[in-house]
Amino acid sequence: MLDQIKSLANQYSEEIISNRRHLHMHPELSFHEKKTARFVADYIRQIGLTPQEGIADTGVVVLIEGKNPESKTVALRADMDALPITEANDVPYKSLNEGVMHACGHDVHTSSLLGTAKILHALRDQFEGSVKLVFQPGEEKIPGGASLMIRDGVLQNPAPNGMFGQHVAPNIPVGKVGFREGLYMASTDEIYIKVKGKGGHGAMPEYNIDPVLIAAHLIVSLQQIVSRNAPPKIPCVLSFGKVIANGATNVIPNEVYIEGTFRTMDEVWREKAHKTMVKMAEGIVEAMGGSCEFEIRKGYPFLKNHPELTRRAKNYAIDYLGAENVLDLDIWMAGEDFAFYTQHTDACFYRLGTRNEARGIISSVHTPTFDVDEAALPLGAGLMTWLALNELKTV
Ligand SMILES: [Zn+2]
Ligand SMILES: [Zn+2]
Repeated sequence: MLDQIKSLANQYSEEIISNRRHLHMHPELSFHEKKTARFVADYIRQIGLTPQEGIADTGVVVLIEGKNPESKTVALRADMDALPITEANDVPYKSLNEGVMHACGHDVHTSSLLGTAKILHALRDQFEGSVKLVFQPGEEKIPGGASLMIRDGVLQNPAPNGMFGQHVAPNIPVGKVGFREGLYMASTDEIYIKVKGKGGHGAMPEYNIDPVLIAAHLIVSLQQIVSRNAPPKIPCVLSFGKVIANGATNVIPNEVYIEGTFRTMDEVWREKAHKTMVKMAEGIVEAMGGSCEFEIRKGYPFLKNHPELTRRAKNYAIDYLGAENVLDLDIWMAGEDFAFYTQHTDACFYRLGTRNEARGIISSVHTPTFDVDEAALPLGAGLMTWLALNELKTV
């Protein structure tokens, strides 16, 4: 079976790469993946399968049934959205949609899963159970397409016994993949604070309530959430990346805006931290004579890979690629909406190496020069097939 999958992945490789290039040239923003969804559904029909369209508006789901289809189901997920970035790469498949770019590799995930669909369809008489392919919208934007797909029933009829998601990794050389059991990625919450004081002439502070000084105290004090309040064993980050005090050398403004991100890996602590931050901010601001509006927009939950499923997946990957090409990953404080699936079913999110230093393919995701070594595409398609079929055999 292993050789058969590898040979089919090889055989379909040009088609997988051409699909990736089409998607790369026609990127669409989160929750606007209309043409992308149509492309996915058309390709699925062309293979001879039946897509379910319109799930969470632009999501597409495909059920590939083997023999005895009700015995077990494994789900495989790809995200389809692009980012509001102008592509700076000079490549024949450069984005044709000005200001929008597949800079997070979701074109790779989608075309690779389409390749998996074709391989699985070709092998349908040789496995037992079903594989559910999930093409979801809006990974890059709160509330996350995954949460809407779950709301619309993607994890029911049939409910998967296990689920896999893969993501490109520009820090891992092409040909290698990475896994991590247990805690892997962080919850992500956005923080918006408006500090209100009373502006006036910078020479007469006694008549003003200086929101700049209050904001400065707030930024310093809120770091206590991480250093003094967070349990040391729970990873936790608080960063403020936007501070606007639109006064002048001699003008104290009325208000200061602060924006930041709070990330951690424990839901109980996350809730407690939210309450503590608001309480601390209100106390400090009040003590200094001002007031504040403190808004927390909840993002994705933390991502925990199911330990046994991930251990098995890693071993399947070693069979496929050799032990030297399967890496252990560290925890990572970025967020990913695949986390929603991990709250409902046994799931594993792993990394697909796309780096090629010799060819200068080294840029990070979410940058205008991001690209991948396309040799990762047939590998991604074949490996996902291999993971799914092995997992279907596991009792
Ligand atoms: Zn991204
Ligand atoms: Zn991504």
